[in-house]
Amino acid sequence: MPWVPCVTGGVVASPTRGFVPARPAAEPRPGPRRDRPDPGPPRLSSSHQGPGAARSVRDKKGHERVSARTVLAIIGTGAAAVLALWWHSTPGVSGLGGWLTGAGEILGLLAGYGVVVLVALMARLPPLEHGIGSDRLTRWHAMGGRYIVCLVAAHALLILWGYAVEAHASLTSETATLLTQYPDVLMATVAGFLLFGVGIISMRAARRRVRYETWYYLHLYTYLAIALAFSHQFADGAAFTDDLAARFWWSAMYLAVAVAVAWYRVIVPLRAFARHEFRVLGVKPEGAGVISVYIGGSHLDELAAEPGQFFRWRFLTRSLWWSSHPYSLSAAPGTDVLRITAKDIGDHSQALSRLRPGTRVIAEGPYGAFTAGRTGRGVVLLAGGVGITPLRAMFSTLPGPVTLIYRASAEQDIVFRDELDAIAAARGAKVYYLVGSRAEIGGDPLSARMLRSLVPGLDGQEAYVCGPAGMISAAAEALRAAGVPRRQIHVELFEF
Ligand SMILES: Cc1cc2nc3c(=O)[nH]c(=O)nc-3n(C[C@H](O)[C@H](O)[C@H](O)COP(=O)(O)OP(=O)(O)OC[C@H]3O[C@@H](n4cnc5c(N)ncnc54)[C@H](O)[C@@H]3O)c2cc1C
Repeated sequence: MPWVPCVTGGVVASPTRGFVPARPAAEPRPGPRRDRPDPGPPRLSSSHQGPGAARSVRDKKGHERVSARTVLAIIGTGAAAVLALWWHSTPGVSGLGGWLTGAGEILGLLAGYGVVVLVALMARLPPLEHGIGSDRLTRWHAMGGRYIVCLVAAHALLILWGYAVEAHASLTSETATLLTQYPDVLMATVAGFLLFGVGIISMRAARRRVRYETWYYLHLYTYLAIALAFSHQFADGAAFTDDLAARFWWSAMYLAVAVAVAWYRVIVPLRAFARHEFRVLGVKPEGAGVISVYIGGSHLDELAAEPGQFFRWRFLTRSLWWSSHPYSLSAAPGTDVLRITAKDIGDHSQALSRLRPGTRVIAEGPYGAFTAGRTGRGVVLLAGGVGITPLRAMFSTLPGPVTLIYRASAEQDIVFRDELDAIAAARGAKVYYLVGSRAEIGGDPLSARMLRSLVPGLDGQEAYVCGPAGMISAAAEALRAAGVPRRQIHVELFEF
């Protein structure tokens, strides 16, 4: 029989286990277990917001969460204020040259505002991270980036054309005039080219060809581009040349976002490093190419991390200190230990298996909106491959009826089997392991029909899906075909 959907039954073991370090020397501390049992009563967010909700709330753990609709409304209001600024500073528009220049100014202002929004989305602002989630913010950032590059290009062309028409000059001579006689335009032009460069390497086809780290560090040139372009706005922009208040508020907007970036991306992680003293306790092999890393620390309850969330981990070894990588918690967070589980797919994930106990760690987070809401509905968890990690953490803590469906290509790819069976037995939940290739199975094991047959009353349940991109979209489609409303489907993709 190629695949085995099995409902787990009798008691297997305690749902929590001590960890077994990779090497004998890795035993972190003898004596009591370092792994902490999953907390008994689940502690869930009090007001998890679906995508349509429109208010900012604070959950039980004190996380401020802001909904997507609220954020979009704020961004839209800001854009309207930018248009009002242009209107206020423009006495009138006449002639083709005037219209072209006016349009160029509007697009330039919107681009100047847009880059601030894009940076703010990536500033790791807790209300955004908890309310919207890093993956969605990253998608907005990427989409917004494409618009900004177009706005910048259109701004430059329209201004150039408009000035040329007004001065009755050719485009070539007007370009030379702008670059040599208008203050800071040369710097802004360099900034524009930097943005185009970043835009090109961020295009899907190009990005697939470069290493993540190469793309990431080149992408940081955006900050340089923003700095280079800033001054030409005040030096040449009609909206600012004579308006001190406009200059003040525009500068305040840039400054506020710069402070937020420095605070949340640098100061907060360093402060957490000092406060929690994160250290590797040990490494445990979990299966073919999959290991768990146990990270100890003090006052970890203050992090208010929730099952389903992830941290960006920076392991302070000679080869790993310079990059931080996201990994989800693979067990409910304890007061003095956290666990992550990684599949070795590249340099970083492979190096994790060689971590030594005592290695210091900078952990940035917790991040992510892939957390359980208190809806009172039953829950179905759908895992593909190593996508089991956040779902494993949720499986032990979610209240009410839970079904876990775990899709893997081969038996040896299943990790945490003992833990999952034990949790299922302890809480009376169901686990189905759908193992084998589609060809072996003779069809799609995550079809709507199959899901409905495994989970009675599926359409009334909350569904949490994590796994490879293809599996996520197939599962989400099947869930919708099975009648689960879109707002009840929550996904986590291990990719930004
Ligand atoms: C929110 C989130 C949670 C995740 N949780 C887990 C988990 O619990 N277990 C697990 O095994 N994997 C998890 N991942 C994936 C994990 O981060 C990548 O597998 C790992 O960073 C790959 O790095 P590498 O150097 O080993 O491989 P590479 O070959 O360098 O990278 C492979 C791919 O991983 C992504 N990636 C690489 N470096 C980074 C980085 N610094 N930041 C973001 N993405 C990067 C890129 O898409 C890249 O194409 C998660 C990813 C995200 C976004």
